[in-house]
Amino acid sequence: GKPILEVNNLRVSFKMYAGEVQAVRGVSFSLNKGEVLAIVGESGSGKSVTAQTIMRLIPTPPSYIKEGSSVLFDSKHEITKMSESQMEKVRGQEMGMIFQDPMTSLNPTMTVGAQISEGIRKHQKVSKSEAMQRAADLLTLVGMSNASERIHQYPHELSGGMRQRVMIALSLACQPKLLIADEPTTALDVTIQAQIIDLLRDIQQKTDTSIILITHDLGVVAEMAHKVIVMYAGKVVERGTLNDIFYNPRHPYTWGLLRSVPRLDSDKNNELDSIPGTPPDLFAPPVGCAFAARCPYAMQICKEVDPEHFELSADHSSACWLLHPDAPKVDIPVEVGG
Ligand code: SF4
Ligand code: MG
Repeated sequence: GKPILEVNNLRVSFKMYAGEVQAVRGVSFSLNKGEVLAIVGESGSGKSVTAQTIMRLIPTPPSYIKEGSSVLFDSKHEITKMSESQMEKVRGQEMGMIFQDPMTSLNPTMTVGAQISEGIRKHQKVSKSEAMQRAADLLTLVGMSNASERIHQYPHELSGGMRQRVMIALSLACQPKLLIADEPTTALDVTIQAQIIDLLRDIQQKTDTSIILITHDLGVVAEMAHKVIVMYAGKVVERGTLNDIFYNPRHPYTWGLLRSVPRLDSDKNNELDSIPGTPPDLFAPPVGCAFAARCPYAMQICKEVDPEHFELSADHSSACWLLHPDAPKVDIPVEVGG
């Protein structure tokens, strides 16, 4: 397929009193039309900053995109170089965003119908009543029954799951080419989570929208992603198809993530908490592999030289010295495909 998004050597830093935090340190990936790409990693891995930078939703300053970074959208918009007014158009007409907390993007003082129809009228010349009709259609599309009554309700009159559906409808109002969903189900209970994921997958298949899904939940990834990138300490440490990552993972951090997938029958918090240790301080990133301090396989070279990606196939690569031909052979220590 044709790429909708090509990210090349993206570097984003935050200027703080104490110095510079290197939140994203040379991220590259591409996303084809109609594909779902999941970005997984712990909080602080740079996954949200990457997504927000693609939409230019983080304030500059304190953050800034470093020289040499490129984010090419739809083969024509160089996001890193666009003015704020150009960017507003792209966001309003071609990209949609779904956040963890619907209340951050819903206006509490407007009915949901008014908000969605306003979104429609921002970039399509249609009458108010026509826009309202389309708003009702969108609410139906996202699985809300009696949409013609729902359009008159305010966000606070709806349940958390219903609000999330409204936000999805809102994000679809501009018929985006790219949808970015940042932890779209994290705040919801398990049953509602499953419904929202089904809904997103459904919409993706119906509309062929490209989606970037940011999540720490590998269960969600398995449900809908085609490709996966695993981020750690501001870098991509492994990239592959869904099958590569679940059935042939080749980075020790990915192994840790897979081991920490919660069992469906447990009510344990599903944060990734089973990898001992903490990510490095990005004020002063380590010289070698950023995972070395937590990695049971770390060798001397890991502490000295940051590994480049080793290619396993056209789609699959891992930034780990274990893939060097001279490295000791280790078995993949996770039960895969379970
Ligand atoms: Fe572990 Fe070394 Fe691989 Fe880093 S490069 S993940 S420290 S084995
Ligand atoms: Mg986040």
